[in-house]
Amino acid sequence: MLLEKQREEVIKIALKAQQLGLIALTFGNFSLRDQETGYVCITPSGMDYEDLEAADIVVMDDQGKIIDGQRKPSVETPMHTMVYRKRKDVCGVVHTHSVFATAWASCYVEFPVIAAELAALVGEPVKTAPYRRMGSMELAEIVSETLQDKHAVLMSNHGLLTVGSNLKTAFANAVIVEEAAKITYYAKNMGQLKILDDQECKTLRKWVIEKYGQ
Ligand SMILES: [Zn+2]
Repeated sequence: MLLEKQREEVIKIALKAQQLGLIALTFGNFSLRDQETGYVCITPSGMDYEDLEAADIVVMDDQGKIIDGQRKPSVETPMHTMVYRKRKDVCGVVHTHSVFATAWASCYVEFPVIAAELAALVGEPVKTAPYRRMGSMELAEIVSETLQDKHAVLMSNHGLLTVGSNLKTAFANAVIVEEAAKITYYAKNMGQLKILDDQECKTLRKWVIEKYGQ
């Protein structure tokens, strides 16, 4: 099977997202780009994640032309492929409707950086893309425009999109943005927010890149 290992990885990450409560039912979609072939492996439209097998993951080129797979790909395929076309550094894309991130995306309040972990992993405040209908080319355009060269973007009245140099990193960014949105929600209800300034965000990000981990 073409890119079997990569297709299995997409399922593994989708199931992890489900276990962490980042996605409900069949909402959300996950993809990775294979660096060797340039092909994109993406979750199919409207299938239960626990039923997925490698063959259900659709393989396509970055224009959305199907190379392998019998399933209909995710309705947000244009959004994933547009991000891959614009961002050569991105090899993983995660889209969820996780509750706290979506709540932030649904009120016209800027998402501040108060959680050090958000600063460390995402490195800057997360912007919100204006509302466009789900599955539309307009949504793909506005999301990739708002994302620019960053790691995450909130999607107004809809959800969250995160990217990474691989799917694991894109997934970690989705977890961190949701956690940060949750912390910010509680902090905002407790008192006045203490926002981390740009310089501290940059320093934390640099520290993680250079020093953190094994
Ligand atoms: Zn969605």
